[in-house]
Amino acid sequence: MNEVKTPKKPLLYYYVIVLLVLLLFNFLAMPWIAQNQIVDVDYNTFIEMTENGEISRAELQDATNRILFTDTNEKIVYKTAMVDDPDLISRLNDNGVSFRGEEIEQSSGFLSALLSWVLPMVIFIGIGQYMSRRFMQRAGGPNSMMFGKNSAKVYVKSSDGIKFSDVAGEDEAKDNLREIVDYLHDPQKYREIGASMPKGILLVGPPGTGKTMLAKAVAGEANVPFFSMSGSEFVEMFVGMGAAKVRDLFKQAKEKAPCIVFIDEIDAIGKKRDGQLGGNDEREQTLNQLLTEMDGFEDNTGVIILAATNRPESLDPALTRPGRFDRRVPVELPDLKGREEILRVHAKKIKVADDVDFNRIARMASGASGAELANIVNEAALRAVRGGRRFATQADLEESIEVVIAGYQKKNAILTDAEKRIVAYHEVGHAIVAARQSGSAPVQKITIVPRTSGALGYTMQVEEGNHYLMSREELENKIATYTGGRAAEELVFGSVTTGASNDIEQATKLARAMITRYGMSDDFDMVALETVTNQYLGGDASLACSAKTQADVDAKVVELVKRQHRKALDILEANRAKLDEIASWLYEKETITGDEFMAILNK
Ligand code: ADP
Repeated sequence: MNEVKTPKKPLLYYYVIVLLVLLLFNFLAMPWIAQNQIVDVDYNTFIEMTENGEISRAELQDATNRILFTDTNEKIVYKTAMVDDPDLISRLNDNGVSFRGEEIEQSSGFLSALLSWVLPMVIFIGIGQYMSRRFMQRAGGPNSMMFGKNSAKVYVKSSDGIKFSDVAGEDEAKDNLREIVDYLHDPQKYREIGASMPKGILLVGPPGTGKTMLAKAVAGEANVPFFSMSGSEFVEMFVGMGAAKVRDLFKQAKEKAPCIVFIDEIDAIGKKRDGQLGGNDEREQTLNQLLTEMDGFEDNTGVIILAATNRPESLDPALTRPGRFDRRVPVELPDLKGREEILRVHAKKIKVADDVDFNRIARMASGASGAELANIVNEAALRAVRGGRRFATQADLEESIEVVIAGYQKKNAILTDAEKRIVAYHEVGHAIVAARQSGSAPVQKITIVPRTSGALGYTMQVEEGNHYLMSREELENKIATYTGGRAAEELVFGSVTTGASNDIEQATKLARAMITRYGMSDDFDMVALETVTNQYLGGDASLACSAKTQADVDAKVVELVKRQHRKALDILEANRAKLDEIASWLYEKETITGDEFMAILNK
């Protein structure tokens, strides 16, 4: 779609510039013009012209010591300096020149008035008109002053508009929105039966899952104008400006109905009003205006408001009540099938080898959002160019997953031999503990090539299919796998390193969640001890229990992690020979595949 933006500078600004130019013109140029209409001559010429009867009137200005006189047609004004001439009066009299002490008009009154007053005004109005017409064209609507106007981007229809087919996966969301498209095509059908469309639809989900794309696709499918604005663009420095923008946005939308208004990141203005004194007045006023506007227009006017947010729980209840944003469309992270489809959609934009296994890539990229998958495909294309290939291969795509997850490979050897050996044991420790427990995802790859993200190596495990539920045993096994790296170091080197810091973080997080949120401890039963505050943005949790319970929880977490750590140590002790063998092999090769690993382990 083509994006048409409104101008940044208010009209007032241009008016002021034009006014200044005109004032300068009047002060500097006009006296100069007037001055130049008087012809300066010497006294001889004056006498000569008098005697030849070429003068009609004369004015003797004693104060300025000059004589002004006109030709017989009184078109040209001449001036000359006065000299001590006793015959002057008689000469003028003799030649029939009328003279007086009063000032002669320097030019014809009409011309002077035209130049100094009418012309500037005409220019001023002309330029003003021209500019305001240009602004109107660019803003796509009538505009008087730009003060407090919204800067909504208007997407006009164009042939490359986004359609539902461009948004892969997200079938539920698309089904939900198809109804809106149908309504925009044929509102009459809905009016006849008395059904009214929801005025507002809230798209909620983690970042990069295609919410903006879906909103654009609705506009593209329905072939209607699409107004897009980010919530933060409403909030201005001055109280009341945001509200003015909301008013203006809705005014424009109503004029262009049927149309779609899309407000991205609506939590920027739609946050709960907490009633505290000294709150953000501008934000609250803007929100109030939005609520009023949504109530203000009738059902079935053809204006549909879509909004997107990653933080639905922070929205004001007034915003989500029926009659406002009452329909909520979840746009979740894609599942395996969705990931595969998204990869295929984006792979169409680049050249890929025929034998690429998208299913395998999709499985490897578990947990990736649509935006990340798009990024992975692009990285693969870049990598192919770097390698001098004409199309991206399976290896390009697999490597680019690792680039997106862990960063680029570090080119220079940064590890000493001793460190490299420790990292090899650490990673094989993870892999063996994972492989020796039931229900763990199979190991796909083990590598000890350092990455720019800081990872010195990693073990990639890939699920076979979708996994929606995790049992207590699976979670415990996962914790054991996290501790496997450190356990291998302890077992082999008898000391520990900082390399396990990330594992420790992950293991603790999981153990805590098991106890406080999943009800997987014997003592607390099904009591929620933590609430998740940011479901779509990393899932931060805040404790909701007494200080004493917190202490108990901490003790339980420690106990749980310790138990799994012990288990990992036991597993590795039992597989010590394999650990040594695979670690030294990994040390040599730096990267081994899951199949190679399993082959040695099961030999
Ligand atoms: P959001 O608004 O949810 O943060 P966007 O709609 O801006 O995410 O998506 C960002 C980019 O990610 C899109 O431009 C697109 O390239 C890619 N993308 C995300 N989801 C999908 C999807 N379902 N199908 C195809 N591409 C997607």
